[in-house]
Amino acid sequence: MRAVEIGADRILRTTEREPGRPGEGEIRVEVGHAGICGSDLHNLQMPDYAPAGTVLGHEFSGIVAELGTGVGRLRPGDRVAVLPFDFCGVCARCVSGSPQTCVQIRTTKIGGAFRQGAFAESVIVPAASAYVLPDSVGDAEGALVEPIAVGIHGVAAAESSPEEPVAVVGGGPVGVMVTLALQARGFSRIVGVEPNRFRRDRLAGLGIAVTAPDDGPEAAREALAGAVPNVVFDCSGHPTGPSTALELLEPLGRLVVLGSTVRPAPFDFYRLVRDEIRVRGAVCYTREEFKEAIEHLAAGRIPSGDLITDIRDLDRAQESFEELIGNGTTQMKILLTP
Ligand SMILES: [Zn+2]
Ligand SMILES: [Zn+2]
Repeated sequence: MRAVEIGADRILRTTEREPGRPGEGEIRVEVGHAGICGSDLHNLQMPDYAPAGTVLGHEFSGIVAELGTGVGRLRPGDRVAVLPFDFCGVCARCVSGSPQTCVQIRTTKIGGAFRQGAFAESVIVPAASAYVLPDSVGDAEGALVEPIAVGIHGVAAAESSPEEPVAVVGGGPVGVMVTLALQARGFSRIVGVEPNRFRRDRLAGLGIAVTAPDDGPEAAREALAGAVPNVVFDCSGHPTGPSTALELLEPLGRLVVLGSTVRPAPFDFYRLVRDEIRVRGAVCYTREEFKEAIEHLAAGRIPSGDLITDIRDLDRAQESFEELIGNGTTQMKILLTP
């Protein structure tokens, strides 16, 4: 089968490899569509995390092709979206209800260093990680379940309620997914804060108020009819994101950080203490949140059509990564298809 591997020179190339056979409790999925994630772009630059030979791709849907032993729930031909981790279910973090921090999250990641990812014709996955797609969710849409689940987890992490005014900092894919998750959960008082004109317009296209960071927190409040956000989601992935988010917040507010940056970010800890701001990170999702993403798509609560900006053959992986890394991309989600 064809698979896109990272070369020793960190270039993505299509190679031939054996598809493998599913072991006990596993299935082989023929990949239909696999989205390129910001974390894939990042990992391409990180040989420690994704050594040469790694096949990336963790946002995907496809068709069950082959069952390993002991798999009763699925049938060949089932259309599925795959949760790309295998939560152990027994570590303290899993038991406490936070499987997204499971001790084996890194070693079980499909599309990480230890398990082949979905930029390939087929992939072996744990049967328990495959979720059958309802008829109302299209094949390509199935590849959006994972990033939408990221947005849902971010919203859940805020422990907020739909009446509250909220702000989303950053209009890249993560900011869009958080906005869509907020709307799907019934939030309507949302302001998006984004410096780039194109991305700001894209957020506005989702039906929310938008401002630029340079306009200051007053502009965001004005956009919320005078309300000060109780919750701000930093989805910028930029070192200025956390401080921009902090300025927007009401005292006692919650700051949820989803966009990570490896560069140091300045942060006003005086303000944090004085106003008793709560800050937390949010990563991945639980199984319930993954299922919730499917339910929102099935019910038409997420306008997925605009999210997929291109569908391309696997052979165009390198070119697509370069385009997404480049400044000023107008792409949202590029899906690769074998
Ligand atoms: Zn992702
Ligand atoms: Zn665990």
